Amino acid sequence: MLGLMQNQPLMISSLIEFAQRHHADAQIVSRRVEGDIHRYTYREAADRSRQVANALDAMGLAFSDRVATLAWNGYRHFELYYGVSGSGRVVHTINPRLHPDQIAWIANHAEDRVLCFDMSFLPLVQAVHARCPTIRQYVALCDADKLPEGSGIPNLISYEAWIGGQSTRYDWPVFDENSASSMCYTSGTTGNPKAALYSHRSTTLHAYAAALPDVMSLSARDAVLPVVPMFHVNAWGIPYSACLTGAKLVFPGPALDGKSIYELIEAEKVTYAAGVPTVWQMLLGHMKPANLTFSTLKRTVIGGSACPPAMIAAFNDDYGVEVLHAWGMTEMSPLGTLCTLKNKHDALSAEDKMKIRLKQGRAIFGVDMKIVSDAGDELPWDGKTFGNLLVKGPWIVREYYKGEGGDPLVDGWFPTGDVATIDADGYMQITDRSKDVIKSGGEWISSIDVENIAVAHPAVAMAACVGMPHPKWDERPIVAVVKKPGAEVSREELLKFYEGKTAKWQIPDDVVFVDAIPLGATGKMLKTRLREMLKDYTLPGL
Ligand code: ADP
Repeated sequence: MLGLMQNQPLMISSLIEFAQRHHADAQIVSRRVEGDIHRYTYREAADRSRQVANALDAMGLAFSDRVATLAWNGYRHFELYYGVSGSGRVVHTINPRLHPDQIAWIANHAEDRVLCFDMSFLPLVQAVHARCPTIRQYVALCDADKLPEGSGIPNLISYEAWIGGQSTRYDWPVFDENSASSMCYTSGTTGNPKAALYSHRSTTLHAYAAALPDVMSLSARDAVLPVVPMFHVNAWGIPYSACLTGAKLVFPGPALDGKSIYELIEAEKVTYAAGVPTVWQMLLGHMKPANLTFSTLKRTVIGGSACPPAMIAAFNDDYGVEVLHAWGMTEMSPLGTLCTLKNKHDALSAEDKMKIRLKQGRAIFGVDMKIVSDAGDELPWDGKTFGNLLVKGPWIVREYYKGEGGDPLVDGWFPTGDVATIDADGYMQITDRSKDVIKSGGEWISSIDVENIAVAHPAVAMAACVGMPHPKWDERPIVAVVKKPGAEVSREELLKFYEGKTAKWQIPDDVVFVDAIPLGATGKMLKTRLREMLKDYTLPGL
């Protein structure tokens, strides 16, 4: 017997419709590429999304055709999220930090038909357009009078001219909720990039889950600042969850430096922010010397790479901001786990609470996870045993776009490439990417643990731990360190700092001071590049 409830497909367009009906006057504030602040409401955003849909219809774009974006977080990008997906096409967000060759490769692989770009990326578009034969229309995200002359880009129109003549009325189509809605290529540290292809169903379910109290806890009383980019994994789904809750949205545009972010948080009374650790490093670096404080910020979600304990402590102790450590990946839309305490933890000491907060957190309903040995045997949830982390759920990839890389699943589970422990309460902790874990004398050393200790030292701005070949132990860890400006610490002092904080054999063999640690397109440390930088290095005593 079937249930007798209405069967209504989950459509992304219903999110913006809901926001317009129930939160019409809630604000969306954007710092624009031009530098000024733009401000409007969900009502206007919804109207303009429908103008986008009409513009795409007018072009004769087919269902499922890809519309690419090269854009910062801002209101026009937001309108594209809804106008493109809502009308049945697929938003293909491209990471502008990728190499132009990769961008051209990706645009061809996705067979993009339209490319919408912020003016900051004009030189990038000029460099790649000749190699992108599938793109029929270029749209510069600017006013009609700002369109550059003599850019050499064919079929170029300004966004405002493109949508300006279109009606704000549009009947959003209803179709199979499993239809593709957006796509994002993974950085492809090995082999060619592969695309996760999200659906209306996966995106809507993820939006519901992300808004839950123990996840992002978004509400109509929040002003949320997604510093995490809309060009990579849909800004962790915040543009969707914001519509579902009616939260005020604050978009930082291209200005991601500490000063600009701080000013935006204060001016727009932001209560909630989300981003990768490197961004928050810049924010704290700006605030500390000037003795600044937050007047409204209450919570921040930090993920994408392990959040150093020193950062959690600084937010909590110095600024009264709760840090929610999050873990996920492109293939997971991206949220998998989030770290919030349970009520039974109330009585714990601050130190014991911190130990839990450092973990990547508990699975969100909708995400199943397990850890397995290399042979595939399931490992215990004891908080100590670590193994390969596998996940499954309705917003996790089944297959990459165009079947790239073959069948990624193992008995229906997606291997994340991460190595983790899970404790009896279900708190998962990443110890490493499987390719970064250091294998020393048959034991594994977590590079994240080694890094976390180094960045707890007051003179250390950033640290990256890699394994170096060793004839007896296979590999031994060393740590590459960037010092804070004006701060001093010697190799010996830093090695001494490890004593008592970790097992002796887990203390790195050496410290190498560097000017900078190479970062990839998603702000993560690029250990492959670091290893190349250290190719002539040999461990002390060898
Ligand atoms: P890519 O595009 O390189 O796949 P993603 O943005 O999808 O990048 O990154 C996913 C990976 O980032 C995860 O598999 C994990 O290794 C790492 N990661 C994400 N969040 C965290 C976290 N909180 N702690 C440690 N590692 C994390």
